[in-house]
Amino acid sequence: MITKNAEETFKYGQKFAQKLKSGEVVGLIGDLGAGKTVFVKGLAEGLGIKESITSPTFVVLKEYNILRPNLHLQGEGDKVKKLVHVDAYRAETIDDIKSVGIEDFLCRDDVVLVIEWAEKIKDVLPKNTERMVYINFKHINENKREISIL
Ligand code: ADP
Ligand code: MG
Repeated sequence: MITKNAEETFKYGQKFAQKLKSGEVVGLIGDLGAGKTVFVKGLAEGLGIKESITSPTFVVLKEYNILRPNLHLQGEGDKVKKLVHVDAYRAETIDDIKSVGIEDFLCRDDVVLVIEWAEKIKDVLPKNTERMVYINFKHINENKREISIL
């Protein structure tokens, strides 16, 4: 899928939220400025999170509570209580990312975990493709991005 501006990537994130399964881990892959954080902002909005999402590049992991039952999420989706946003950009080793407690949030039915720079920490992420989805963000030109679900 091609997005022609940030707004379209945001909307794609919003739409993606409606297809999430509880306990799903979403790994985002792509260079700086490819649109990963914009996507997460849309995802959060789609989950009914009112807080503004800031890039967790320096804090590595941030938790956002989903305060109201989410009408968009179907079936098991309304078990989701929390969005956890991780940015692995600064992680140099797997231990760096383990030290922020990422494992506490893996495969919990009440958590959707979304990770920027997921390719750097693949080893700690679920191998089970039922629970793990990777999305690739490619910078095409100033405003165009190619987003593909791997
Ligand atoms: P990343 O988290 O991948 O480093 P960001 O989402 O923080 O990237 O930043 C993407 C930047 O690119 C933003 O400044 C955004 O406004 C801009 N941009 C331009 N076109 C797009 C697009 N189609 N999708 C997403 N972001 C876009
Ligand atoms: Mg980012």
